[in-house]
Amino acid sequence: MDDGHWPGTWRTTRGRARDGWRDGWDRDARCPPDPGKRGGKPARSGGWSVGDRWEDLHRRRVQVVRSLRRAGYVARHRWTPTGDPVRGFRGPSYVDGPVEGLPAVDPWDRAEALLRCSKSWYASLYQGGATGLAALEVPERCRRNHVCPVCAAAEAARRAAAVRAVVALGMDGGEALALVTLTQRAHPEESLEAALRRWRRGWSLALGRGGRVRRRREALLAGYYYGVEVTRGASGKGRRAGKWWHVHGHALVSLVDADDQDARTWMADRWRKSSAKAALEAGLEGFGWDPVAGGVGDGVTLEGEWWVPVDRDDPVQVYQAAKYPTPAADLHPVPLAEFLAVAYRRQWHQAGGSLYGVLSLAEGLEVEAEEVPEELRRPDLGERVSTDRPGTSPDPSTTDAPWTWEVRGGVDPLALREALLDLGGGIEVDQAGTVSAVLPASAGRALARRTSQAVRAWRLVADSMRRTDLEQGLARIARELLEADLAPLPGGRKVPT
Ligand SMILES: [Zn+2]
Repeated sequence: MDDGHWPGTWRTTRGRARDGWRDGWDRDARCPPDPGKRGGKPARSGGWSVGDRWEDLHRRRVQVVRSLRRAGYVARHRWTPTGDPVRGFRGPSYVDGPVEGLPAVDPWDRAEALLRCSKSWYASLYQGGATGLAALEVPERCRRNHVCPVCAAAEAARRAAAVRAVVALGMDGGEALALVTLTQRAHPEESLEAALRRWRRGWSLALGRGGRVRRRREALLAGYYYGVEVTRGASGKGRRAGKWWHVHGHALVSLVDADDQDARTWMADRWRKSSAKAALEAGLEGFGWDPVAGGVGDGVTLEGEWWVPVDRDDPVQVYQAAKYPTPAADLHPVPLAEFLAVAYRRQWHQAGGSLYGVLSLAEGLEVEAEEVPEELRRPDLGERVSTDRPGTSPDPSTTDAPWTWEVRGGVDPLALREALLDLGGGIEVDQAGTVSAVLPASAGRALARRTSQAVRAWRLVADSMRRTDLEQGLARIARELLEADLAPLPGGRKVPT
């Protein structure tokens, strides 16, 4: 990549006068702090958010924060944010460079968000699943799925689980499945925005809108679900700048026939022609399909491996189609700054045919969790019943403050009383008729305020994979409740169970 106006090394840039910034940037802005080595460890672990992978994702998050700090200087020195707002972005758009016409997303804002990711935690109440009453520790994530490795992994896992559940149950409408990787030859002068536009143009040409192509497609493909991915090619790995944007798509295709040969031949023909046409339209003749684009290290793009049959009973490859577009932790600050502008409000995944609406289809499947193969199941926690967020819900790291949940819905005191008997707890009714579940904690008092209708049996389960601190804390509370015979609460009257 032409480094153009990038004014030098990190050290010299940081120290440089702000009058070198392009017009439109706030000269009082400060670069967010370096998270430092200690930032590499997540603040804490709990619930599902535990283990080596969790910690590794946070180390990558910290790496992205560091790159974003530099990317903030890149943007300020190279691009001018004085255009009109676009794509629902509140701020201005860029008027120059490869990001011209795109939202001027400040890398420093994203760095601030990622610095806060998973710093606050809260406990959510679930009810009605196989586990009865469940309390789960949940980190407050930054939800910048495009750049935050932690949030990208969580969102990709959610999508992959949904698609897997649908195909494992044979609800994709086809006889066979394949993972298809569709690449295009990259050009060093092509911006990321242009490269993405070219890939999508190729995809829509390949599928055809009507006529013969569409009829043939419908005879072969029942449905598809694809994700677009971007990387920096010709050694943009390891946070080096690289030479070009390599855009490719991973599509899970559901095939009408059990024998995939016809579909495979058709798809190869379509992508070869369509990617060539899209390249020609973009002024890049000869830059169509290149089955080895992306190179070694991305095994599925090697010749002959662009088409991989997927085992319906073990659809591991689904993850490729569901994952998030770029390993931001691998990007050099210059392409990272460009990526931020391009990624704003962009859809990276698309479904069609029988897989259209696959995510909402999968939501319905949770109701029939029994039919979902064991390995696809998370512990069924039922429905989240608390209207929680950090600050209003118990922070599971504190044991001495009272635990209070605000709960959705109406109240069923009888069911509540029954549930609390299971817990060794009690209920309390105040003058206004508000029913509360009472759990005195070892260091203070925990109050589970519970107003849901259809409570049948409550059982305290935090996590089938790991006994969390929270679960242990609540079990301790329940024991103490039994021993103490319900401590009275201030401001309420005690109702013995
Ligand atoms: Zn995050």
